[in-house]
Amino acid sequence: MSQRVVVVGYGMAGSRLAAEVHARGGDHKVTVLGAEPHRAYNRIMLSTLLAGKIAEPEVELAEVAGQGVDVRTGVAVTAIDRAAREVHTDDGDRYGYDHLVLATGSRALVPPLPGLDPLPERVVPFRTLDDCRRILAAAEGARSALVLGGGLLGLEAARGLTARGLDVTVVHPMGHLMERQLDPTAGAVLVGTLAGLGVRTVLAVSATGVAADADGVRLDLADGRSLTADLLVLSCGVRPDTALAAAAGLTVERGVVVDDRMRTSDRRISAIGDCAQHDGALTGLVAPAWAQARVVAQVLAGDDPLARYRPRPVVTRLKAAGIDLAAMGDATDGPGTGEPVEELTFADPARGTYARLRIRDERLTGAILLGDNPAVGTVVQLFDRGAPVPADRRSLLLGRAFGAVPAAPAASPALMPDVATVCQCNDVSKGTLVACWRSGARTVDALSGATRAGTGCGGCRDALAGIVDWLAGAEPAEVTGWDREAMEVTR
Ligand SMILES: Cc1cc2nc3c(=O)[nH]c(=O)nc-3n(C[C@H](O)[C@H](O)[C@H](O)COP(=O)(O)OP(=O)(O)OC[C@H]3O[C@@H](n4cnc5c(N)ncnc54)[C@H](O)[C@@H]3O)c2cc1C
Repeated sequence: MSQRVVVVGYGMAGSRLAAEVHARGGDHKVTVLGAEPHRAYNRIMLSTLLAGKIAEPEVELAEVAGQGVDVRTGVAVTAIDRAAREVHTDDGDRYGYDHLVLATGSRALVPPLPGLDPLPERVVPFRTLDDCRRILAAAEGARSALVLGGGLLGLEAARGLTARGLDVTVVHPMGHLMERQLDPTAGAVLVGTLAGLGVRTVLAVSATGVAADADGVRLDLADGRSLTADLLVLSCGVRPDTALAAAAGLTVERGVVVDDRMRTSDRRISAIGDCAQHDGALTGLVAPAWAQARVVAQVLAGDDPLARYRPRPVVTRLKAAGIDLAAMGDATDGPGTGEPVEELTFADPARGTYARLRIRDERLTGAILLGDNPAVGTVVQLFDRGAPVPADRRSLLLGRAFGAVPAAPAASPALMPDVATVCQCNDVSKGTLVACWRSGARTVDALSGATRAGTGCGGCRDALAGIVDWLAGAEPAEVTGWDREAMEVTR
């Protein structure tokens, strides 16, 4: 049955949902309303844009080119009238819906410090393309920058600005960097790695105020110190954008509360992506946002009305040149009181290396790998699939062979099982890529076009290239009917 589907938010989740609904055919009329003035872009790649490794056109999301979807940019939804089943926009329009999807994402948190309301020109949060443009404009001709917040995004911003030649200091209120993903030892090793790359770190002190004028910015700290620079980037966390949902009377806790089918407390309204709270948890990452978009599309299109969102284990990687860091699972937790946990750690701060594995019942439940560790691919796969770890753990911890114990077969596509996930953002397995290759997708771009692998954070593009090389050397280039079918189902 034809439905009017209205999507609020033209970010990574909203644009994917529209593309997924459209790709499934049917005669739904899909309208996407986005507050930002731009076509949907890959927010993840803003860190790479800031570092000068890509140009602005490269952040646009490929799928926004999809036709058949009515997209309105620069239009903010101001209210939801659930009784009339319509949304109101800031340009005075109203859009009726049969099903409404909230994909309003998160907003950067601006700390309540004196001097930040209104935000001075040289003080910029790091969330949107416009923020990124403002940071780059302020960095032009600047010599120094401060970054407030030593989480993942703050460090990516800091590294990006050093790559542009700025002298950067990160100020973080906690005792160690990235405390949500790292333990204190890993945090300390990371401080050393950053120092080697020109990023200074000030830890365990809060900011108390900001003063900015045309000449620069001063950040006052609780210990009486003041730091000055040409610009200040705020990376103090995000808050799900739930204002519309709350005003409409939907159940909102930290995010908009949804069930396994991403339905809110009103069955005609779904919520996906950063704004949604599923099973008590917020996600804040693109892989769950895209998985949730697929579930809503499957339900709306009717091809799987019982589709359910099932969270997958999360792997966090820092996208910063010169720093190899992957963290996953419960590696920062204390010993706990439950079943026995096997803890393995190795630290070599002088070489910027730290590894921690947490194993329960022969399965990895968490890991931190900092520095060049060839076993990172294997560790991620074992964690992702919940597969048993090798009897000799040293090959995982150190990524190299010990006597008769072979090194972890990290990068070899031949040894990867077909079910291994190659693209975490789009949940694409090696088996799917092999099927597409056999069907004629013989380059990284062709595989990416067929499966979307590599279109999220881009961290798997080297692995895709490895798979293409391996297949080119190992397989006859035949296309079979079965393979063509396999490619169809992966789209
Ligand atoms: C610099 C940076 C790097 C990141 N790196 C990674 C990474 O490496 N890996 C990862 O998984 N995640 C990363 N993330 C997080 C990832 O970008 C988000 O999880 C993802 O964008 C969530 O998608 P979303 O559509 O829910 O929200 P968003 O992408 O934020 O989109 C929400 C959109 O809704 C719009 N909107 C809000 N309210 C309204 C309204 N009332 N009317 C109309 N439109 C509205 C907003 O303007 C926005 O355009 C990163 C984020 C940033 C900022």
